[in-house]
Amino acid sequence: MALTSVSLSLDSVVIAIYPGSFDPITLGHLDVIERASRLFDQVIVAVLCNPGKDPFFSVSQRLEQIRRSTQHLINIEVDSFTGLTVEYAKLRQARVLLRGLRVLSDFEKELQMAHTNQTLWDGIETVFLATTKEYSFLSSSIVKEIAKFGGSVTHLVPANVADDIFSYYN
Ligand code: ADP
Repeated sequence: MALTSVSLSLDSVVIAIYPGSFDPITLGHLDVIERASRLFDQVIVAVLCNPGKDPFFSVSQRLEQIRRSTQHLINIEVDSFTGLTVEYAKLRQARVLLRGLRVLSDFEKELQMAHTNQTLWDGIETVFLATTKEYSFLSSSIVKEIAKFGGSVTHLVPANVADDIFSYYN
């Protein structure tokens, strides 16, 4: 009886992967991570190393930025991966792939990706979290655009990221 309840509780641990570029992490991403940490047993924030993209911050800088931004949360792990997200999910025994939705244009792209991933592995379930409305406009690209022209981004990114951006331009 005791053994059954132990194995049941282990089976019910839900690990979610939140994959993305996070170049850099914004307050919109952080909001999704904080809300997901209350929904799932463990959330792995996974930086995709995409050789096709020319990032602003290196993978190791992004990992450090995300670690520092999420250190108040106990069930968050930060990692990086290459290749197919579903293969990484299998490796990490994650059953949930977490994505954020801001505007209608996100929906089209995200739904296509969710359906594609389903064809690759039916063991994965994509879960979408709708953005909190004050972050619906916010993206990493917008942050980089403002920073490039000398604007302040302190209201858009975690403090440690704002410091990194400031150091880059000064
Ligand atoms: P990717 O290149 O994989 O889209 P991003 O770092 O841009 O990587 O985004 C990762 C995920 O976070 C995506 O699902 C994106 O829709 C979501 N996201 C980005 N910004 C926000 C935000 N402000 N609110 C909610 N979700 C967001």
